Amino acid sequence: MEPTALLDAARQAAPAHLQRPESGLSVRHAAAATRPGYSVLEVGIAGAFSAAIEVAVAPEGSAGWLPRRVVVGPHEDGAACPAYLPHPRTHLFRALSAHAGSLLVHLDALPPAERLPRLIRWLCSLDGLWTERCAMCDRLLAPAGPSSTRLLPPTVRTPQLQAYHPGCFAASRGSACWEAEWVALRE
Ligand SMILES: [Zn+2]
Repeated sequence: MEPTALLDAARQAAPAHLQRPESGLSVRHAAAATRPGYSVLEVGIAGAFSAAIEVAVAPEGSAGWLPRRVVVGPHEDGAACPAYLPHPRTHLFRALSAHAGSLLVHLDALPPAERLPRLIRWLCSLDGLWTERCAMCDRLLAPAGPSSTRLLPPTVRTPQLQAYHPGCFAASRGSACWEAEWVALRE
């Protein structure tokens, strides 16, 4: 399929408020080389993050593209695409990349054509990464884990765009599995 069709599909998955030109959302092909049969998309939101998504090009006649790997890193204005699926350097982006990987596993429960749009919608939910307070504790920064002194902003998002620290989400829902809400989402 045409590369522009992949870009269009990715852009259309973004919520309406991020489709305006001034929203800061960018969706493009990463310049980095990739494996045969794969493409790398870069989805970024200015001031928040940039994510590289390795996508398997669907065989001819089948619908959609299959996201295989995601790495989330800092957004760098004006920079070329991040190096090919780099290892994120900070704890925040390591946590977000781990969330993305976990969500990908859960999205396997969906029909193939729904996985990339759902992943992009989740990425777009991180729009307010540095500003959204936790819906449970009302703080921006909280310790990354029970025995951690490291402070992170909320990294969990619900499909309704509520932000939570992972521990706060687990406390409010009685389950740490935020991914299930993204799989269960019905448009
Ligand atoms: Zn919290």
